[in-house]
Amino acid sequence: MAYDFRSARFWASEIIRGALPEGGCAVDATLGNGHDALDLAQLVGERGHVTGFDVQPEAVAASRARLEAAGVAQRCTLVLDGHQHMRDYLAPESADVVLFNLGWLPGAAHAVTTRTETTLQAVNAALEVLKFGGVLTICVYPGHDEGARERDALLAWAQALDQTRFDAMLRCYLNQHKNPPLLIAVKKNLRKAAQSV
Ligand code: SAM
Repeated sequence: MAYDFRSARFWASEIIRGALPEGGCAVDATLGNGHDALDLAQLVGERGHVTGFDVQPEAVAASRARLEAAGVAQRCTLVLDGHQHMRDYLAPESADVVLFNLGWLPGAAHAVTTRTETTLQAVNAALEVLKFGGVLTICVYPGHDEGARERDALLAWAQALDQTRFDAMLRCYLNQHKNPPLLIAVKKNLRKAAQSV
């Protein structure tokens, strides 16, 4: 079979597989229908934990149903609240990975979508919640107006991160004109001995 470059969600999962240990702590900042939360719950295993956020009750319910059906709901805490408030639920430096899959709930009305202003608040909160060495992944969907605004704001945000504290990267298609999703990933660097000297 021919090799397939695949998509931003796949690239994010590749990174997360490398960054999330069994027994680890993961955050799904956009639960949606719970597909990402289920992947995270399976990766952390019985000793790990997943905290998920969504502003739509139907998204939290759909995620809970998916996690229960897979027998992993006990290792998950689902929160009906905006991801911009994640610091109210999670201690600083407590998460190995934080995952964002922006946009609207698949199969639902498009009126409730992630918004640039709260997304920026949330990714800054995520950097505080991440452990040193932890990783943040953000799948961005620039094919709609608000998604294009999120892309522009997030690229500017990521480019401005202090290079001594974070590694920020972008993965995207260069020649596809239907605005496929792109991936921004940020690693919170380990505290370097040199930084305290
Ligand atoms: N990860 C999901 C999955 O596996 O099915 C897909 C996520 S979907 C593309 C984006 C979700 O973000 C929607 O369910 C939407 O309700 C949610 N959302 C919008 N604004 C939010 C906010 N401020 N905080 C948390 N979730 C939000």
